[in-house]
Amino acid sequence: MPPGRALVAPPEGELLDLRQRRVRDLRISVTDRCNFRCVYCMPKEVFDDDYAFLPRKQLLSFEEIVRVARVFVDQGVEKIRITGGEPLLRRHIENLIEQLAKLPVELTLTTNGSLLRKKAQSLKDAGLNRVTVSLDGIDDAVFKRMNDVDFAVGDVLDGIAAAAEVGLAPIKINCVVKRGSNDDQILPLARHFRGSGHILRFIEYMDVGSSNGWRMDEVLPSADVIARIGAEFPLAAIAPNYRGEVAGRWRYRDGGGEIGVISSVTQAFCATCTRIRLSTEGQLYTCLFAQSGHDLRALLRHGAGDEALRREIAAVWRGRDDRYSEIRTAATERPGSGRIEMSYIGG
Ligand code: SAM
Ligand code: SF4
Ligand code: SF4
Repeated sequence: MPPGRALVAPPEGELLDLRQRRVRDLRISVTDRCNFRCVYCMPKEVFDDDYAFLPRKQLLSFEEIVRVARVFVDQGVEKIRITGGEPLLRRHIENLIEQLAKLPVELTLTTNGSLLRKKAQSLKDAGLNRVTVSLDGIDDAVFKRMNDVDFAVGDVLDGIAAAAEVGLAPIKINCVVKRGSNDDQILPLARHFRGSGHILRFIEYMDVGSSNGWRMDEVLPSADVIARIGAEFPLAAIAPNYRGEVAGRWRYRDGGGEIGVISSVTQAFCATCTRIRLSTEGQLYTCLFAQSGHDLRALLRHGAGDEALRREIAAVWRGRDDRYSEIRTAATERPGSGRIEMSYIGG
């Protein structure tokens, strides 16, 4: 039996992929646009004034998104994350949240935080449970270099404060570490968020998409992140909250709270990957590194009923065999070959 395969036959009808993984987390990208140009995600040279973003009519409507989400929940999805591009740029996003919040799921959103001060209360009122805020530095100059649109760190910190005030907690703060660009921010970020109640997490820079010019030598392994922080603030590992949790959890031994590391490159977690992604225009992707999706929008717009949708989704999941990060090699690690961009598929 191949490694990772279940020893016990699953109950009749249970939706499992070819590697015996369930579908638990649905990530919905609501826009491919963003007001930042993070160097590792939407580099300016590629995402410039001539870049062809999706025209509005190609986007799934809120009604279409909710229909798909409902079918996924019937198939076992327990968590929905709204993402993008920058999801808070999608007009009336609160209306979508209000509808999704009626489903029996944990509902979260990942944002660059730029519009959080303005939107935190309405997001909370609409029924959002939590937010994750991306923050790649605490030093203003470094942060501006990373977002590449001169956005001040103080405004994101104020957005985080707004989210905390309205109770969109626990707040996770995600920092993508690019060696030589912002790894000098690891300790200052740790010092800043220690004791705040927010969970700071460091993500290994990944070879997603085809435009960020990714190189392995720019990845700082999570083990180094832990060593650097641990040298100043002793750390102890803590058990995962649930099987398949992507972040390795650590706590400050002196009670200063918790941090996490997401080792997408150095310690792949494909074996327990329960995520599926719905793109802005209704393509379903079974892996962040997929080169093609499954067109749900065509089904939706040609009058398919819920049962037809359910069958399609089940067929896609049952045929899923992805484990890109486990088999990444010198040959596959070079970006290119038409991979889907993170800002389109949703991080
Ligand atoms: N705009 C929102 C934001 O930045 O939070 C949501 C979308 S963004 C694509 C989602 C997450 O993906 C962010 O935390 C971002 O830092 C991360 N991300 C983007 N490109 C990445 C890469 N090449 N490697 C690792 N993480 C990446
Ligand atoms: Fe925009 Fe988020 Fe990508 Fe940065 S990481 S460019 S904020 S989508
Ligand atoms: Fe999941 Fe694909 Fe990432 Fe592996 S590489 S953890 S299968 S999204």
